[in-house]
Amino acid sequence: MADTTLMDKLVSLCKRRGFVFQSSEIYGGLGSVWDYGPLGVELKKNVKDRWWRAMVHARDDIEGLDAAILMHPRVWEASGHVSGFTDPLVDCRQCKNRFRADDARIKGIPGQPDAQCPVCGSRGTLTEPRMFNLMFKTFMGPVEEQAAVVYLRPETAQGIYVNYLNVLQSSRQRIPFGIAQIGKAFRNEITPGNFIFRTREFEQMEMQFFVKPGTDDEWFERWREWRMQWHHGLGLTPSRLQWHRHGPDELAHYARAAFDIQYEFPFGWQEIEGIHNRGDFDLGRHQEFSGKKLEYFDQAANDRYLPLIVETSAGADRVALTLLVDAYREEAVEGETRVVLGFHPAVAPIKAGVFPLVKKDGMPELATALYQDLKRRFPVFYDDSGAIGRRYRRMDEAGTPFGITVDGETAAQRTVTVRHRDSMQQERVGLDQVAEFVAERLGRD
Ligand code: ATP
Repeated sequence: MADTTLMDKLVSLCKRRGFVFQSSEIYGGLGSVWDYGPLGVELKKNVKDRWWRAMVHARDDIEGLDAAILMHPRVWEASGHVSGFTDPLVDCRQCKNRFRADDARIKGIPGQPDAQCPVCGSRGTLTEPRMFNLMFKTFMGPVEEQAAVVYLRPETAQGIYVNYLNVLQSSRQRIPFGIAQIGKAFRNEITPGNFIFRTREFEQMEMQFFVKPGTDDEWFERWREWRMQWHHGLGLTPSRLQWHRHGPDELAHYARAAFDIQYEFPFGWQEIEGIHNRGDFDLGRHQEFSGKKLEYFDQAANDRYLPLIVETSAGADRVALTLLVDAYREEAVEGETRVVLGFHPAVAPIKAGVFPLVKKDGMPELATALYQDLKRRFPVFYDDSGAIGRRYRRMDEAGTPFGITVDGETAAQRTVTVRHRDSMQQERVGLDQVAEFVAERLGRD
């Protein structure tokens, strides 16, 4: 399967089955903004829940936070986003398309007469690069005046830094400790694309870990290991995950060290999560700009210092795309193509399909009762229309790991057929053991 074809197929499956729709589609869509449908919202929620469990609930040294999207404008001056969060941008005067100045498809130097637009092919129509800030601006209050400009946050991290003392004091944590947050971020990306890989509105799952100076390298290595393990735990193909170490030219000015976890997408190896040793840059800047002391006082050692920060930053949408790409497969079965999303049961949007084999002989009643029972514990889907093979196929495409059929033997023997999505093997399970059977295979943690 050609790689571009795989992405096309995935986009169309996502729309058809209700994973992801283009935003405002009936108005022609809004560029690189996407909506999650009934199955997509479950998939992304499973990613976020799993992250929250691993980062907050399973640990004693991390607290959760949900900071607002809108923040004091000075935050973005302190963070460097107002002055530094810019990309050089080039416009084509002919076709009105916009590109990053370093777009590999541009021939020649933008602004020069021989430079060629990669879309319309015109020569000499590309403007000189201009710096373009990636933050979305909006206005607070009724009058659109400069004083009231606020930004939609381009990352969730800053909400954590400015609340670090609040969390520390209210939770009675001690350093080393971390703060985790999941939330929306907005970037006016110049070259978004590849479906939900790079979008203008997305969700981040970020954790900032505050450590004593001198212990940062150690914590950085620990966090690298734990985060890679987490991605493996999602059931992703191990050979499609790798580390990318930022070289001196890629490293952000404040970062002491940075590694990306990359996944091999059909469009190449790309970052899904960054792990950064940010040193004392963030708290140092907020201390300077706010005029408030952000030092930590270690009572036992009678020591006062500004903590250093190790950050883990992942995109929920990117991880959802990774799961979709990794799960998608086509198989030839009895002369037909079977499309399967082979999700790990823990992230599958629907855990089981429940089917009466036929709509008579008491089967619908038994199946409905089973469905109602299972529904109290996890998302399940009831389907009584069409041949049983077609019902299985529909669930294969949705990534549902188990198909449970109430058949002619169910009433007398109190058993059902459980059909496994990946192997298509079937086995008989006691009617009153189905819930436990599915629950045991979800591998929740
Ligand atoms: P990239 O180089 O891909 O633009 P970045 O290095 O700017 O990413 P970070 O600022 O480190 O990314 O953001 C952390 C994570 O947030 C990324 O690993 C990614 O998963 C996610 N992310 C960043 N930008 C986007 C976006 N435009 N759309 C979707 N997810 C994003």
